[in-house]
Amino acid sequence: MAENLTPLDSLGEFGLIDRLRASVAPPRQASTLVGIGDDAAVLHPTAGLRQVVSTDLLLEGVHFDLTFCPLKHVGYKAVAVNVSDVAAMNARPTQLVVGLAVGARFSVEAVEELYAGMRLACEAYGVDLVGGDTTSSPGGHLLISITALGEVEEARLARRSGAQLNDLLCVTGDLGAAYLGLQVLNREKQAFLADPDHRPDLDAYTYVVQRQLRPEARMDVVHTLAELDVVPTAMLDISDGLASEVLHLCRASGVGAAVYQEKLPLAEETLDVAEELHLDPVTCALNGGEDYELLFTVPLAQHDRIRNHPDITIIGHMLAADQRGAFLMTPSGNAIPLTAQGWTAF
Ligand code: ADP
Ligand code: MG
Repeated sequence: MAENLTPLDSLGEFGLIDRLRASVAPPRQASTLVGIGDDAAVLHPTAGLRQVVSTDLLLEGVHFDLTFCPLKHVGYKAVAVNVSDVAAMNARPTQLVVGLAVGARFSVEAVEELYAGMRLACEAYGVDLVGGDTTSSPGGHLLISITALGEVEEARLARRSGAQLNDLLCVTGDLGAAYLGLQVLNREKQAFLADPDHRPDLDAYTYVVQRQLRPEARMDVVHTLAELDVVPTAMLDISDGLASEVLHLCRASGVGAAVYQEKLPLAEETLDVAEELHLDPVTCALNGGEDYELLFTVPLAQHDRIRNHPDITIIGHMLAADQRGAFLMTPSGNAIPLTAQGWTAF
C-alpha cells in the first residue's frame, strides 16, 4: 500500500474519538445545545412537537460487504436508512448518535472515510451527529449502530395503524432496483474471486448499483406531503420489499389491500437488468429489499392532491377488514395473495 495509513492502535480510543470529532460538522439544529465532547449530548426539543426515536444496527458481512461497498458509501447509507425510519413517521430528523465497533485491520483513515460519508448524509438531511461510543471489535468486523431522533407535529404523525377501507395505497419513487444492484455487485464479486484480473464494468448498471450502494431517505416526499396538505393515514418505509411492507400495514391497520401489478413503478433500467439476469422485475419489487421508498395510504377524497405528483404512484387501495389479506391483482384479473417471502405466480 503506497499511502501512509495510521494503524488504529497507534492512536488509542481517545485519539480516535478526537479525529472523528474533527470529521463531524458542528451542530446546526436549534434543538442541539451540546454535541460531541461531554458525557451526554444536551437537546432542547421544540415545544409542542412529538419526538420520534429509531435505531438501526449494521453489521459487516450481514448488511454490507466491504469488497464492493466503499466505506464512504457505508457511512452515507447508515445515516440514510435511519433517516428513512424517521421519514416513515412523517417526521424530520434532528440528531443522531453513532455506536461503532471497529477491528484492528481498519486504519484511522478508513474510519474517517466512513465518517466523511456520514457527514455528507447529515448535511443532506440537516441532522446533527451529537455523540456516540467507540470500541474495538475483537472479531474484526465493523459494526455501526445509529440512533436517530426526529420531530413532528402531533397532527402530522403517521403510524402504520391508521389505514382505512378504500384509502389509496401509494408508493414513492420506483421499486426493485436496489435488489438488482446487489445481484450485479455479487456477480462481479464472484467473477473477481474466480479471476483476480477480472475488471468489473458497471457502466451499464449505474442506476441499480447506485440504488443499492447509496440509497436516499425520502425526506423530500415528507416535505411534499406537508406542502400538499396531505397527512398519510398510515406510512412505513420499504426496507424489505413491497409485499412484506404491505402486509405490515394491513396487519397494523386491520384492513386488507389490493395492489395492481401494472401500477408498480419500475424504472427502465430495472426492467433491462432484470431481463439480463433472468429475474422477474415484479418479484424484485415485491420481494427484493432496500428500496427505502415510502409506502403510505391517503383517504380517497385526497386523490386530486397526489395524483399528478411525479414522485408518487397510486398502486392500489385498502380492502375491508373482513377481506383481511393483501392481494396482487394481475393484468389478467387474478388476485394472488401477497406473501412476505416469495411469490408463487406460476
Ligand atoms: P464515555 O467514556 O463517557 O463513553 P467517550 O470518551 O466514549 O465518553 O466519548 C467522548 C465523547 O465523544 C462523547 O461526547 C461521545 O458522545 C463522543 N463519541 C464517542 N465515540 C463517538 C463516535 N464513534 N462518534 C461520535 N461521537 C463519539
Ligand atoms: Mg464511550
